[in-house]
Parts: sequence; structure tokens; C-alpha cells
Amino acid sequence: MSTQSRRAGTEDFRASRPWPLSQVSDWQIETDVVVVGFGAAGASAAIEAAAAGARTTLFEVASGSGGTSAMAGGDIYLGGNGGTPAQRENGFEDSTEDFFRYMMLAGGPDADEERVRLYAEAALDHFDWLKAQGIPYRTSYLPGKVQAPGTGDCLIWSGNEDAWPFNEQAQPCPRGHLPEAYGELGGGGRMLLDNLAARATELGVDTHFDARVLCLVADESAQVHGVVVRLAGEPRFVRATRGVILCAGGFALDREMLREYAPVTARLGDDALSAGYDDGSGIRMGQSVGGAAIHMDEIFTTLPIYPPASHVKGILVNEQGQRFVNEDAYPGRIAIHCLRQPGDRIFLLVDHAIFEQPSEFSRIEIAAVGESWEEIERELEMVEGTLVHSVALFNQHAAKGEDPLFHKGAPYLKALDEPPFAALACHIGEAFYPYFTLGGLRVRPSGEVLTAEGEIIPGLYAAGRTCSGLPRSAEGYSSGMSLGDCTFFGRMAGRAAAGAAPR
Ligand SMILES: Cc1cc2nc3c(=O)[nH]c(=O)nc-3n(C[C@H](O)[C@H](O)[C@H](O)COP(=O)(O)OP(=O)(O)OC[C@H]3O[C@@H](n4cnc5c(N)ncnc54)[C@H](O)[C@@H]3O)c2cc1C
Repeated sequence: MSTQSRRAGTEDFRASRPWPLSQVSDWQIETDVVVVGFGAAGASAAIEAAAAGARTTLFEVASGSGGTSAMAGGDIYLGGNGGTPAQRENGFEDSTEDFFRYMMLAGGPDADEERVRLYAEAALDHFDWLKAQGIPYRTSYLPGKVQAPGTGDCLIWSGNEDAWPFNEQAQPCPRGHLPEAYGELGGGGRMLLDNLAARATELGVDTHFDARVLCLVADESAQVHGVVVRLAGEPRFVRATRGVILCAGGFALDREMLREYAPVTARLGDDALSAGYDDGSGIRMGQSVGGAAIHMDEIFTTLPIYPPASHVKGILVNEQGQRFVNEDAYPGRIAIHCLRQPGDRIFLLVDHAIFEQPSEFSRIEIAAVGESWEEIERELEMVEGTLVHSVALFNQHAAKGEDPLFHKGAPYLKALDEPPFAALACHIGEAFYPYFTLGGLRVRPSGEVLTAEGEIIPGLYAAGRTCSGLPRSAEGYSSGMSLGDCTFFGRMAGRAAAGAAPR
């Protein structure tokens, strides 16, 4: 008696184990392309697959579209080719080479050159595609240090473009592009997803909600033929003649995977950024048929020292009173440098001239207030002379508009010499260090999933945070790189799967 004929229950299926093709006697659904997950990557993949004429079926475990993508500010990293309309209108000419160089630096030592080149060259076309899906963009520009402004304005500085060492190697240019939001409450990500979801529906994508994909169906040579999905509480066998595209997000909520691959998250508390289903099931399904997972230790995290923007003029010190980073870097880069310090106690030092109440969500508290830096040093119980010396050295150079240690930009240099002074606690495990995962399946730019030996697994594709894509280095992450990667390479995967020879 086959396992299926004794009516396998959902408990018989594991993401980490493919269901043998030989044990499927009956397909309940037959389609060309199966897409797993209805976030930015899945929506983009489904749109392109359906637009290419493939019968496309999408399964989403939640009761609606969006995933973590819909929680986002909706920022998409775009530029090159002389500049987007928003860049050009605001006086920024962005060359493809500068855009390429920046993204290679941002991608870290293992940046995927083929992927970065493709994206840099096609970013403007991709922007046109996003607009053609109905996503509205203005051309307005918000200068300075802003994060998720929620105003509906478009162009922002969203990474390390103008910060050392990036600004020495690529001409700085703002490249974060936000869609018009839903009023002052923001919701750029929701706006993005609503438009992509409407387009998928218009193209006839057969969408099932409350539908968890449990595992892949594969033959003995690990070729993928379909999936098993839980529909109305029952396992259903779904055949995909051309391919399965895994777009199930990352593993920020799976404690076991975090412990194994990204143990640093244990220091950050329960601030995973997720809509609720980043349990790594997509990655595990890919691994179950031999897919390699790479950069699994890389996470995005951030320390929101701004708003208020004035705090960028403060200096960060570790519990030994030593500076360690240029404070005008993207807060994601700052957070990674915080994690590398010898202890969890991190302080942002400010003076009366730049102090404003930290934003409530940052959970940054006042640790000490004093009329002199000596007083602050004593209050923080630091070794005498350590913090005082760091501030004195910084002040001496800042007064001349210089920062020979960390090369903070001149607009943010100001001697911290106006009492009273304060130390703000940005401690790891106490302040808000939200995170999501960047590691995932190793894929070609077409989304084809690769084994550790670099071989393509027939019938299997992945996009978004289920794979390791454009954003693969925590230190270089810039806001907009994840959604840029999800939408652009989701499209590539959709097209590649739709064009695959039917099996
Ligand atoms: C508050 C916040 C702000 C952010 N702002 C930005 C930003 O402005 N720009 C940017 O680039 N990035 C931003 N990010 C990061 C970005 O949103 C995510 O990295 C990105 O949306 C991931 O997209 P995805 O399609 O890979 O995954 P998701 O959007 O999470 O989609 C995956 C979908 O798969 C579903 N799923 C999971 N497992 C299964 C299964 N087994 N079967 C069926 N369905 C399944 C999930 O329910 C989900 O709907 C932000 C994140 C947060 C939380």
C-alpha cells in the first residue's frame, strides 16, 4: 500500500525531505509554474511567468498577499544609466559604473558580479516595469538623513553612498526610491504589494491563500516535479511541468536555523522583522534536493540613531570609551560594528547643541548626564581618561572639520563642547536592533537553484530572501536592496521557469 493511498496526513511531509515522485499516484492540480509565497519576490515571479503565457499557480500560507514585503517602507534601490527621473530632476547624474561599483562594494567580498552587472544595467527598465504595474512614484527628493519618512516623497539617501569608505570609490548619489504611500501613515510596501497582487490577478494567476507548501516532489535524481501543499487541512499534490519557484522569505523566525547559522541573533532579543512566516521553509525545501545555502550567517540589523538627524553629529563609543565607526554611515553598518565591540554596552555621546529626545521606537535611553565629560566617564564607570581622551581627540579634529580616525563627513563634524553632556545607551539586547536574514539558496541570476558543486537542479528556482541575492553582506546593506532584488530577480525567475521545456 503506497503512503498516499493510506491517505498521508500533513504530518507526513517535511520541508527538509522531498516527497518521492514514485509515490504520487494522483495529481490534484496540474500547472506549468508553481510559485511559493506572495511577497514581493513571489508576486513579481508570478506576474512574469503568467505574462509569458505559463499557467501559473501561487500558494501563500497567509490569508492574503504581502508577506514581510508589505511591512516595508517600499524603498527600492535604483539608479545608473544617467539617472532615474527623480535623480535627474534633482540634479543627480548617476552613471552605471558608479552604481555598479557601489553595489559591488555593498555586496561584500563575495558580491555576485554577474547579478550586480545585470541589475545595474537594467535598473531603469525595471523602474519602468514597476510603474507599468501601477505603482505610483513622485519625483520629489528628501535630502539629509531620513528613514522610512512615510511622506510619499520618492528619492532618499538610503545607504552608505556618501560615507567613508564607499564615497572614495564610487561617486555618491541617492538611490532609494519610495512609492507614494497611503497618506501620512506610510505603507509604501503595502502600496507596492497591492499593485503587484492586482496585476497578478489580472493576468490570471491561480492564487490559493491559507495554503502552506509542505515539501517538494522530486524524482530519484533530485529533479523537481511539483509540491505538496496543505489546502483546507488536506495535503494536495501539485504538478508543475515547467518549474517551482521558492519565494518563501528568510528564516528570521526559525530559532533552530538561527542558532545553527546566525547565532549572533541570540544577542539581539526578539526583534525579528517578519510578517510571521519567515520560518526558513523555502530554504529547507531547496536544501532537501541538494540546493546549497550560502552566506547564512549574514543578517541585516540596524541601530536607528536617527531620527533625530542631529544625533549623527554625536559619537559612538564602546564600553571601553573607544570610538569604532563613522557615525554618518548607514545605521545597518553601524549596528554591525556595534556587534563587533568587546561588550554589549554601546553609548552615543551628545552635547546640549545636538541633543533631542531619541525616537521612542529606538529604545535608546539616557544613561548619564553631566556638566563635563569626566563626570560622564565616572558615571559610566569607565577607566579614567578613556572616554575623556576619545572625546578630546574627536573635538580637536572636528573643530578643524576633520576626522582622521574614521573619516566622518564634514557636515556631521562638530566638537561636542557645549554642556550639559549626555551618554545615550544603545546597548545590544536592550535598544532596538531589528533584524532579518540575508543568507539563502545559491542561485543563478535566472533563479535556477545550484548545488554546492554549481550544478543546476532541474525544475527548481528561488528568489527573494529564500536565496542569497544582491544584499549579501550585512556591512554593506542599503535600504532598497532587498526589494530591488526581490522584484527584479523574482521577475527573472518567473521568466526562466515559464520558458523552461515542459517535463
Ligand atoms: C519594517 C520593514 C521595513 C523594510 N523596509 C524595506 C525597504 O524599504 N526596502 C527594502 O528593500 N527592504 C525592506 N525591508 C526588507 C524587505 O521587506 C524584505 O527583505 C523583503 O520584503 C522580502 O521579500 P520576500 O518576497 O523574499 O519575502 P516575503 O515578502 O516575506 O514573502 C514571502 C511569502 O511567503 C509566504 N510563505 C512562507 N513560507 C511559505 C510556505 N511554506 N508556503 C506558502 N507560503 C509561504 C509568506 O507568508 C510570505 O507571504 C523591510 C522589512 C521590514 C520588516
